[in-house]
Amino acid sequence: MSAPVTPALLYLDNVSVSFDGFRALNALSLAVDHAEMRAIIGPNGAGKTTMMDVITGKTRPNEGTALFEGSHDLTALDEAAIAELGIGRKFQTPTVFEMHSVEDNILLALKDNRSPLATLLSRRTARERERIDALLERVRLTAHRRRKAGELSHGQKQWLEIGMLLAQQPKLLLIDEPAAGMTDQETADTADLLRDIARTQAVIVVEHDMTFVRDLGVKVTCLHEGSVLAEGTLDAVSANERVVEVYLGR
Ligand code: ADP
Ligand code: MG
Repeated sequence: MSAPVTPALLYLDNVSVSFDGFRALNALSLAVDHAEMRAIIGPNGAGKTTMMDVITGKTRPNEGTALFEGSHDLTALDEAAIAELGIGRKFQTPTVFEMHSVEDNILLALKDNRSPLATLLSRRTARERERIDALLERVRLTAHRRRKAGELSHGQKQWLEIGMLLAQQPKLLLIDEPAAGMTDQETADTADLLRDIARTQAVIVVEHDMTFVRDLGVKVTCLHEGSVLAEGTLDAVSANERVVEVYLGR
């Protein structure tokens, strides 16, 4: 393999996506490092979800470059192949198996290549028990492990789903508005959890809650009309006149 063109984990350059002539992404360029957490902000319609769709292979860009680990061309791979590379995505609504226990949800995520019934009936290996324990601890659900997932609070379900994604050991995790609908305490705990994850894995998090974004304490990218309007610390981005005009000031 030839030398990578970029040391970044994720590298988007000049990416455009058009829907019937409307440019949802317009020459978007963005790079995220290994184990970096990046917060993405911007008004509705800015292209945040479309960007995630491009990264995960759900949407093909009309032009531009999208590289993972410097050498994998994301524009040429399908969603399954991209997930296999180590890119996990969490949508806004939690999708957990409500009728199963919290720990069984994690177990199912550990072995998603087996049939659910065979997985639940088979004996857990010591290694699996260890991994389940570690994941439950990480997402703050150890005390709730035997409860049905359907009984968890909204915030706890979000954490369970994050735990299920972590079971796949992604190198990059995409998370859309995790704090939406959470209590203040859950929001603060979620910021804590994401900071913890970002010590070992890269995270891209889309969020409108500026208290939460401040709490993350990471570099912020503000999108507008499909490209980057401003990038830097939250203080620097918040002080940008155009950002205030199109997003924060409204
Ligand atoms: P955000 O997530 O920042 O709110 P989106 O990426 O969802 O923005 O949308 C960007 C723009 O692209 C919006 O104007 C939206 O209406 C448009 N758009 C997104 N997906 C489609 C689609 N499948 N077909 C047509 N237009 C779309
Ligand atoms: Mg969106």
